[in-house]
Amino acid sequence: MRLAVLKERRAGETRVAATPETVKKLIGLGITAVAVESGAGLASGYPDAAYREAGAEIAPDAAAALAGAAILLKVRAPLAAGEGEVDELSLIPRDTLLLGTLEALGNPERAKAYADAGLQACSMELLPRITRAQSMDILSSQANLAGYRAVIEGAVAFDKGFPMLMTAAGTIPAANVFVMGAGVAGLQAIATARRLGGRVSATDVRPAAKEEIKSLGASFVGYEDEESKAAQTAGGYAKQLSAEFYAKQAEVVATHIAKQDVVVTTALVQGRKAPTLVTEAMVDSMKPGSVIVDIAADAGGNCALTVPGQAIVTGNGVKILGYGNWPGRIAGAASALYARNLLTFLTTFWDKDAKAPRLPEDDEIVRGVVLTRGGAVVHPQLTQAA
Ligand code: NAD
Repeated sequence: MRLAVLKERRAGETRVAATPETVKKLIGLGITAVAVESGAGLASGYPDAAYREAGAEIAPDAAAALAGAAILLKVRAPLAAGEGEVDELSLIPRDTLLLGTLEALGNPERAKAYADAGLQACSMELLPRITRAQSMDILSSQANLAGYRAVIEGAVAFDKGFPMLMTAAGTIPAANVFVMGAGVAGLQAIATARRLGGRVSATDVRPAAKEEIKSLGASFVGYEDEESKAAQTAGGYAKQLSAEFYAKQAEVVATHIAKQDVVVTTALVQGRKAPTLVTEAMVDSMKPGSVIVDIAADAGGNCALTVPGQAIVTGNGVKILGYGNWPGRIAGAASALYARNLLTFLTTFWDKDAKAPRLPEDDEIVRGVVLTRGGAVVHPQLTQAA
């Protein structure tokens, strides 16, 4: 059984899907050869030598890494023909188990290509958010680090500092930090901003989030009504709410936001463009030098003025950080956690006797992630949409 790890080639991707630590454990499972493409871990601080020391073989290129592979670990979807310098997809042997953030729901042609290539492809971002899956949950591990990193970058961009600084020359007040969206990323953003000494408040639409915000020592700011009491789906995500609700929420936020120094936005609604929570008028009301960090930029952004992928300064001197791939901005830690998530998935579905992965079709986790099997697209969200 040979397992391959490729260098990530998509623009801006700095992470890697296995680390020297997980390579050692993969070999411990009974995988006879782990082939890591040369330079795969460089951007996240894992040189070839560290993989070699862990027992991996370093392959000179993607073709060499993939020759004879039965499992492929990726961060992002493999490149298909015309997507970049190498047509990775054409190099993957049939029947390979492919694990990665494949984003196939938004790109159904991708799932079709995996089926045609005879792959067993698993889109790991579709993992159900259930207790048993927590240690394999790539969305949580990556969002957690994104929340941390966003506050750190916000603190650097803010030119006054977070804690109250009492000095002989006078006092600098603590920064007012407002976190919008208190899911995994937002809760970590609250905790990080508090550790840095900021005065932190937060908002969310899900009723459960209010207690979580308070338990981290932040104050809750928000609008609540009968509609928001049912704002959470069975899966724990926020629902799309009415225009009336969003208007009321915006009223409450508008007066609060004008007093903020740093605003971190993390709000997402599954399968849709991120909601606009910070309007142009709200940005206009903010003080020069204040900072908006938009973690939702990849999903279109929570701020009306966010330019995805860029940091900008508005006419009234507000900085808006709209970078994409926030976990990739803390690539060493993000790769370490992502790689452990994939390792846990493989370990959970590992047939010790056959020394091979076995993904039971009736398992809730397997059903959640498997896109293709036996040459066909099988994921219900894709087959029903077809
Ligand atoms: P997410 O990334 O989908 O969204 C981020 C946050 O934005 C959410 O808290 C959401 O309620 C909020 N939001 C959406 N619209 C908003 C608006 N208009 N205003 C303010 N906030 C808004 O969420 P997530 O971080 O992936 O977490 C979603 C849920 O899943 C949470 O309930 C979390 O506790 C749960 N979860 C469970 C597990 C598990 O049990 N394995 C793992 C991770 C997360």
